[in-house]
Amino acid sequence: MPAVESGPRPLLSFAEARRGKPPEHLADLDVAERKDRVAKAGFPAFRADQLSRHYFEHFDVDPERMTDLPARGREELVSTFLPPLLTKVRDLTADRGLTIKSLWRMFDGAMVETVLMKYPDRATLCISSQAGCGMACPFCATGQGGLTRNLSAGEIVEQVRCGMLAAARGDLGEPCRLTNVVFMGMGEPLANWKQVLKALRRIIEPSPAGFGLSARNVTVSTVGMAPLIEKLAEQGMPVTLAISLHAPDNELRDPLIPINSRFNVGRLLDAARSYFAKTGRRVSVEYALIRDMNDHKWRAQLLADELNRRGRGWAHVNPIPLNPTPGSIWTASTPEAQNTFVQTLLDAGIPTTIRDTRGSDIDGACGQLAAEVTRSSARAAKAAEAAELVRRGSGADGPKGVLR
Ligand code: SF4
Repeated sequence: MPAVESGPRPLLSFAEARRGKPPEHLADLDVAERKDRVAKAGFPAFRADQLSRHYFEHFDVDPERMTDLPARGREELVSTFLPPLLTKVRDLTADRGLTIKSLWRMFDGAMVETVLMKYPDRATLCISSQAGCGMACPFCATGQGGLTRNLSAGEIVEQVRCGMLAAARGDLGEPCRLTNVVFMGMGEPLANWKQVLKALRRIIEPSPAGFGLSARNVTVSTVGMAPLIEKLAEQGMPVTLAISLHAPDNELRDPLIPINSRFNVGRLLDAARSYFAKTGRRVSVEYALIRDMNDHKWRAQLLADELNRRGRGWAHVNPIPLNPTPGSIWTASTPEAQNTFVQTLLDAGIPTTIRDTRGSDIDGACGQLAAEVTRSSARAAKAAEAAELVRRGSGADGPKGVLR
């Protein structure tokens, strides 16, 4: 039985339904474990290093091209240590070919998505850490379906390999290098702590251990599992931390982000501030601007006050414009409200940049992944119920609750 925490609606779920495990993959293992497994399978241990270089340097899983491995046993070595983990179902492109959203099927039929985006100075891959998500944020298509299961480290890393390969072979118009990885797809990364941590090591450590991306170019985005933010700061991997705040007051954030009932705004901001103190990495504060719900000037001021109260220069706010959705309560702020919100933060000395919403026309922006996969009328009803709770908490007349 999944463990479900009952409390204010909607429900949070932290445990996945029982399912089989994906096959073990080279990317699940560190260098020493790989050597050990390869030797136990009857091959010389140094074959682990050769396989790792094919995978992490050349993004290759085709035994035909691994001519440094002896023909005899090559197929077996590759099928044992590089089993296929993701099967592409389809690609959708947007932004004149500069954004590609891919849907992938895993061994048990569960689906995840990735979004690959090319910018003038970088290429970024948005990856998923869970199939579905148990955080139940009412505005998020993924959250409406609940948690299907955690991904293995291998399944997370394989998304990156596929993105690296796609960028290198020119799928985004011309060959380029994948420079950035963001955990902003399906799932709450910190709720899949062990596997995400392993995957981060594979993404950051240099070959043959991993891909060797700069830690600062890897972003872990969380809705607010504060104790795990503190634990992440202890791992010696100064990745960029993004917190999806979306409201500076508990009265609104409780229904908007249900985990807030466990770790409230004050607790979250304290954890984020301590992440900056330990890692030196400035924290990104993500704030989706929703018309008449969280886009009031007083909320911008409250956000600025809460950030400044904890020091200067440790956080950067990214307001995220939503798509206009006529008739929905989750719709875009007016340009005037957006400008006032941003200017209020800037006037208070908070670095603020409106975030690019690449891929929004293909449901590839944050919180939109897998919409068509997970939607159902029952879930839509649940979302509507949660939305009503949010509406009641969104008061435009000034703060009623006290932070912390
Ligand atoms: S917004 Fe993020 S944490 Fe919330 S339900 Fe969606 S995927 Fe999960």
